[in-house]
Amino acid sequence: MVDSSAADLVFHNGKILTLVPGAPPAEAIAVKDGLVQAVGSASGLHRLIGTGTEVINLQKRTVIPGVNDGHIHPMGLGTFRPPFTVSVGKDTVKSIAEIRDVIAGAVRAKRPGEWIRGFGWDQGYLAEGRFPSRQDLDDISPDHPVVLTQWSGHAAWVNSRALELAGIGRDTPSPDGGEIVKDGGGEPTGILLETASFAINAAIPPLTADERRQALILAARLMESEGITSITDAGIDLATVDLYADLVATGEFRQRLTIMIMASLVDDLREALLTVRELETDPRRMNISQVKIWADGVPTQARTAWVSEPYVGGGHGCLILPGNSEEEQLARYREWVMTAHDLGFQVGTHATGDRAIDTALDAYEQANRELGDKRLRHYVIHGDFSSPAALRRMASSGFGVSFNPSIKRSLSHQLVNVLGRDRTDYQWPYRTALGLGVNVASSSDAPVMHPDFRDGLTAIMTRKSMATGEVFGETERIGLDEALRTYTIAGAWQDRAEEWKGTLAKGMAGDLVVLGGDLVNTPPAEIADIPVNLTIVGGHVAYDSSAVSQNIAG
Ligand SMILES: [Zn+2]
Repeated sequence: MVDSSAADLVFHNGKILTLVPGAPPAEAIAVKDGLVQAVGSASGLHRLIGTGTEVINLQKRTVIPGVNDGHIHPMGLGTFRPPFTVSVGKDTVKSIAEIRDVIAGAVRAKRPGEWIRGFGWDQGYLAEGRFPSRQDLDDISPDHPVVLTQWSGHAAWVNSRALELAGIGRDTPSPDGGEIVKDGGGEPTGILLETASFAINAAIPPLTADERRQALILAARLMESEGITSITDAGIDLATVDLYADLVATGEFRQRLTIMIMASLVDDLREALLTVRELETDPRRMNISQVKIWADGVPTQARTAWVSEPYVGGGHGCLILPGNSEEEQLARYREWVMTAHDLGFQVGTHATGDRAIDTALDAYEQANRELGDKRLRHYVIHGDFSSPAALRRMASSGFGVSFNPSIKRSLSHQLVNVLGRDRTDYQWPYRTALGLGVNVASSSDAPVMHPDFRDGLTAIMTRKSMATGEVFGETERIGLDEALRTYTIAGAWQDRAEEWKGTLAKGMAGDLVVLGGDLVNTPPAEIADIPVNLTIVGGHVAYDSSAVSQNIAG
């Protein structure tokens, strides 16, 4: 006789961090019908083991709730990886010379004239210590156009063939919001900043529908291997919504998915939102509930974050919204926020500089005032320089913020001569924000950073530069428990789903991760090295590192 109370899965002999406030680590957890059935001691859960129960001895390993990467771009993550793109990131190459070798290999593998795309270079990690140029690529790839996108996505490095195909020459003026970098003789160097790279993108043949599908599947498998069970896709068009709906239906995309409609990618936001509102989906699998709006740029060497205190060397950055004047841009921004709020959609605004962040909060508060506070939990994406006053406004109005710790770990050492020391230290003020009661979710912004929450935990807890080991903002450090919450329950809050996911308690979603180590007793700097062993979504094994290693061995 089948015991109807028997669990599907029981994990025992482990350290289960339930993240239920005040609860000590548990020894065992049972999952049934996709939900947590019980949490407790091994002896207490023994009665739930039936003939069909899979029992897993954790051997003292750590279990945490499934990771919620609350701001990520899966299509970019998939297409910026092989076979679509060669990697020229700092994990694989250390110099321009090594990048030349990688590109020479790609040239041999492709038909003449085919585009070679690469991703991930970071001039701060190149041994030559300078910006690269088209000449670095021309002799090895005279016939294949080459475009290598910088890690941040805000700069491209191309060869002369690519410039030619994009129609960029010495007489081409830089477009609004971008720069064609030129040398002393007035010739393009091959570095294109911000909107200047759009001409290159337009010259590259678009991915086919099948390639786009394969890219999303690639991203899904990669995210599963990183312990990610919930994501927010930070801004897509309606065609990609359809693609996701199909992949969710076929089971090829298994993460719980929150979708943001990108305001700038649809002709008419109201019409687009009314269209997607009609789609029937299981909201626990695919929730089309948010609108993404870009307000300003980024606080890097590009100096495009909109800030009140000038950059080192001058400038305040700017809004990058459509419009011919600041007034027009602000009016468009408010109109988008009001439209989304009116239709019950939550808004996430890309805002990094303090002026852009305040602008977002002004619009959110206005929407609450004029259209009624619908508890939509609008939030600020990135929010690098949220002032204490802005954080207080977020806390009191129930708005959230989504921080990117791995970007800080990767970039801080390059920013002092852009932002000054105090601002570099303050960037992403975890301690201040949590102290003021703001919901802080952490996310990777992949493909900007690898979607690795363990790297993020190390970044949050140490605030150390990966390149130099220097600490940037010691007083803004937080501990493991709080840091882990930013990757789990805080993401669930952002999804308006903390009632059913983000912690491991009876009745919550059976989304969990088994880590190959003792997370609590690992020094913060070494957390980044703990492997993910198992990822479970809704009680189903989505990733099993032992199966992967067996496949490799076999
Ligand atoms: Zn992003």
